[in-house]
Amino acid sequence: MSIFDHRDFDDHEQIVFCRDRHAGLQAIIAIHDTSLGPAAGGCRMWRYGSEEEALRDVLRLSRAMSYKNAFAGLPLGGGKSVIIGDPGSQKAPALLQSFGKFIERLGGRYYAAEDVGIDIDDVATIRRTTRYAFGVAGGDPSPYTARGGFEGIRAAVKHRFGADSLQDITVALQGVGHVGMHLCRLLHDAGAKLVVADPNAAARNAAVDRFAARVATPEGIYGEAADVFAPCALGGTINRHSIPQLRARIVAGVANNQLATAQDGEELRRRNILYAPDYVINAGGMHQASREIFGDYSENEVMSRITGIYCATLRVFAEAEKRDEAPNLTADRMARELLVRARATNTPGNDLPL
Ligand code: NAD
Repeated sequence: MSIFDHRDFDDHEQIVFCRDRHAGLQAIIAIHDTSLGPAAGGCRMWRYGSEEEALRDVLRLSRAMSYKNAFAGLPLGGGKSVIIGDPGSQKAPALLQSFGKFIERLGGRYYAAEDVGIDIDDVATIRRTTRYAFGVAGGDPSPYTARGGFEGIRAAVKHRFGADSLQDITVALQGVGHVGMHLCRLLHDAGAKLVVADPNAAARNAAVDRFAARVATPEGIYGEAADVFAPCALGGTINRHSIPQLRARIVAGVANNQLATAQDGEELRRRNILYAPDYVINAGGMHQASREIFGDYSENEVMSRITGIYCATLRVFAEAEKRDEAPNLTADRMARELLVRARATNTPGNDLPL
C-alpha cells in the first residue's frame, strides 16, 4: 500500500501506525496540519474491511478536521484516529489504555475525542494513560452539533429561497441518532415539517411521536418531496447513485464527509442543488468540546460562536457564487487560505471566519 502517493495523503504532517498485540490494538493516528495549533479530532472504532479502508477513512477525516477547526476559528489543527476492530466485541479497557499511551507519546501534537464507536466513557478510559484526550467534562456534544447544523440549514434556506423562517419548510433527515434527534427538535420548534429515515425503529418512532415526523425507508429518503435533504448518518451518502434521486433543492446536514468525492459537489451545483459544506455547519460539538483543551471560554461564548455558523455559511455561498464554483470547493479554498496564512505568520489568526 502506497502512503506518500495515496490520493488522500494531501501532505499530512505525520501518520502513526499503532500496534499492541498484547492489548489487541491496531490503530492509525493521522495528523494533517498543526499550523493553527495542536491537531484535535475524534477517535473512531470501526470494523474496517481492510487496512486500506481504515487509512483512507482516517486521512479524509483528518483533513476535514483541519478545515473544520480553521473555519471554526479555533486555534487547533486537524487530526483524527481510527482503531480497527468491532466496538461491540473488541473494545476493552486494556485496548483503550494502550491507545492512550500512543497518544501520550506524541506529546500533545494530537488530542483525541469521541467519534463513531467511541463514546465519552471510552474517552475517559483513554484519559487514564494520556493527558491529550478531551470532550469528557462537557458531556454529550450532540446538542451543540445539532444547533450548528440548524444554523447552517437556516442559512441555506435564506440563500436558496430568501426565507428568514423555516415555517413549513420540509426537511428529510437521513438518520435520527444523537445529533439527528436534537436537530429534529430544533427544526420542529421552528415550524419545519419532517420526514425521517433510520434503520433503527426506536429512533424513527421517537421522531414520529415527538415531532410528528413522517417516515420514509432508508432507500426512499433521497426521493422524498422535501426542500432540504439533511444527511445525519454516515459519510459518502451523496454520490453518483443518490444525487439523481434527490428532489430537495438543498443538501445540508451534520454527517462528516457527506460527499463521496469533491466532484459530487460539482454535480449538485450542476443540478441547481445548494450544498452546505459539512465541516462548516457541523462544528458546534467541536466548539463545545474544545473548551476542555483551553478551559477559558464560557457557555455564552460557545453559543455565540455556534450561532455564528449562520453568517459563515452565508459567506461561503456568496463567495461560491462570486467564483462560480461549488460551495464545497470554495470552503476548501477558504480553509486552505487560513492555514497558509497561519503558516506564513506562525500566529493563529484573529480574523478567522467566525
Ligand atoms: P449516531 O450513531 O448517534 O446516529 C446515526 C444514526 O444514523 C443512527 O440512528 C443510525 O441508525 C442511522 N443510520 C445508519 N445508517 C443509516 C441509513 N442508511 N439511513 C438512515 N439512517 C441511518 O451518530 P451521531 O452522533 O448522531 O452522528 C451522526 C453523524 O454526524 C456522523 O456522521 C458523525 O460523524 C457526524 N457528527 C457528529 C457529531 C456529534 O456531535 N455527535 C459532530 C460532528 C459530526
